[in-house]
Amino acid sequence: MLSVVIPAYNEQDNIQNTTKVISNILNNEKIDFEILFIDDGSIDKTWELIESICTEKIKGLKFSRNFGKEGAIFAGLSNAKGDCVAVIDCDLQHPPELLIQMYRLWENGAKVVEAVKSSRGKESLLYKLFAKSFYKMLQSSSGIDLKNASDYKLMDRAVVDAINTMPERITFFRALSSWVGFETVKVEFEVAPRANGTTKWNFKKLFVFAVKSITSFTNMPMHFMTVMGLIFMVFSVGLGIHTLINFFSGQALEGFSTVILLLLIIGSIIMIGLGVIGFYLSKIYEEIKFRPRYIISKMTTVKKQKEENVSGKLR
Ligand code: UDP
Ligand code: MG
Repeated sequence: MLSVVIPAYNEQDNIQNTTKVISNILNNEKIDFEILFIDDGSIDKTWELIESICTEKIKGLKFSRNFGKEGAIFAGLSNAKGDCVAVIDCDLQHPPELLIQMYRLWENGAKVVEAVKSSRGKESLLYKLFAKSFYKMLQSSSGIDLKNASDYKLMDRAVVDAINTMPERITFFRALSSWVGFETVKVEFEVAPRANGTTKWNFKKLFVFAVKSITSFTNMPMHFMTVMGLIFMVFSVGLGIHTLINFFSGQALEGFSTVILLLLIIGSIIMIGLGVIGFYLSKIYEEIKFRPRYIISKMTTVKKQKEENVSGKLR
């Protein structure tokens, strides 16, 4: 059985259509499936809609508040029952037809089928620049190329179980699913425009997400500070000798500007260094609290007699 995990945050306009599209595609191919919606604390009618269409095959979980897409994905992974699990966006930006191809690849032995973007779709220049430098940093420090990666993936039960054993609270699904390894196959897709509603991300959310993911995946920024420190030590030895020579030859008053510059530079480096350490410290603090990644407040319950008219409604 294929489990389709769909994180949904304020997606009232998409729930019904997405369910219909995905179930039609999978029914046509005679693939046994379940759809698992994770309502990430929506404040609109998302949950009511999920409840109204729930059947034995279409289930839902509701978070007690907005925990973010990462939490939703992980809740989906640990509650999915299938032999393989696909994660897909609710807004149909991830083409659902691709599920068939991914499923067939899995049947032929692939453990992870990653859908990669052939282009990044319509994004503003600033967003592009930001995304590009983020992925560059991640790649150079952790060796995982995520430039065109998406959260659209299909994973074997073994991979899902491996991911489910990871204890960390701050997660980055895209990278974790490469980190666990296994035979991975990539398929390309074109990012479709959003079906309904607007994107749930804003610049601040994305920035926080980027910093969190980088710090949860690599210690590079911390090492970077050490390297900077070493470079500046070399400089200061050189400048120290220079200063001493000046002092002994009686020209000590000169070089005030050097002192000021050095103070500024070193001051800022120390501040950045402290900031970086602070980030990691706060992350250690977050992890050590062992809070759950999400809290489920509601689950759909299947009412047998309802199934008839719902599947009728969906057709
Ligand atoms: N999403 C979520 N929690 C959030 C933000 C987004 O579960 O806090 C879900 C959203 O419902 C959608 C998916 O994550 O199914 C991708 O979100 P969106 O389309 O807004 O992001 P984009 O496609 O712009 O990257
Ligand atoms: Mg989207």
